[in-house]
Amino acid sequence: MAVKTIRITKLIARLITTLTVLTCSLLMAPQAIAGQDYDTALNYYQQKQYEKAAVHFETASLRAPGNISANYYAAYCFHLVGKRQEAIQSYRRLSKNFPGTREARQAEKALSAIDPQYKAIQAGSPAAQTGNTGNLNVAGRKKETAENLTNRLVKVQKATGKLADVTGDFIKSIKEMVAAIPLPILVLMDERGGEFDIAPSVVEHDLRIQNTAPRGWGSESSWKESPAVCSGTKVIIAQYKLNSSTGEYVTTETEIGVVRHETGHAIDHCLNGFSTRESFRHAYYLDEARVPDELRGRLAYFLQKSTSGPSEVFAELICSRLGGETDNYRKESGDLVYKHFPLCRKEMENLLAELGVK
Ligand SMILES: [Zn+2]
Repeated sequence: MAVKTIRITKLIARLITTLTVLTCSLLMAPQAIAGQDYDTALNYYQQKQYEKAAVHFETASLRAPGNISANYYAAYCFHLVGKRQEAIQSYRRLSKNFPGTREARQAEKALSAIDPQYKAIQAGSPAAQTGNTGNLNVAGRKKETAENLTNRLVKVQKATGKLADVTGDFIKSIKEMVAAIPLPILVLMDERGGEFDIAPSVVEHDLRIQNTAPRGWGSESSWKESPAVCSGTKVIIAQYKLNSSTGEYVTTETEIGVVRHETGHAIDHCLNGFSTRESFRHAYYLDEARVPDELRGRLAYFLQKSTSGPSEVFAELICSRLGGETDNYRKESGDLVYKHFPLCRKEMENLLAELGVK
């Protein structure tokens, strides 16, 4: 017990020393590298709002990959607030882009503690490096049919609240959508815990989300108004959603496009965060910078900070690839994303080719 306490105290002391040293160099960072996000990050950092600081440092770092302070502080702040996955991505970039520096050495030390794939990457394992398509057994499952996989992946939840059970027609329409997904993607989902769970309403699936708003939505919205959500590798699909102006539940059967979009998020999760990979994020920031000013408001949902923007663009591009959006408003934004994120589209197409989608 005593040994442990001493060790922790030492660790904190070391951390504080590092922090002090780096804070000084941070404050003296040349103006040339201090973009708007960097300045915002610095403000949050000084107010000890590390989570917000992390998001802005990360954005600054991705926009200006030569800015070692932004990269270091993004990783460090993510780590500090327990955003492990984000911290790993940022530390990996730091280690790769600034080899031999003190910051890279610290990144490597942190990675060996928090990144389960770090040792495999160090040892040169190709599956660990490319993230994830390497050990998929698509070839060994040639005899698998879309119908088999669909029946395995689609699950139907009984009603638990005041809404009726989902109807046979609704189940059929979802199964048709799933069966039309390219086979290698279904195999990927099957191997990585993917699921399509149909419930009367998304909130019947997990009551904890009942009064919270989906990311990027106004705070007055709630999941009850959502036709589908993604929870890790699972897509939760509702037959009914709340119409907040009338207080009535209405059918979602015309919103199959949303299911396709959420499938994009599930695929992203099955690949351990494809949209957080450096190649995709790099493509994203190049595309994002060229989105015309007059469209930035319309595409705000796809231009969210940190990992949200890339993950929404990836999901929407997958949605287009699976047949696209179905309601007019979303169709229009889907087309805009398709048009204005060509480098991301290329990354997605490369991924699909790697998976064996023709
Ligand atoms: Zn989304």
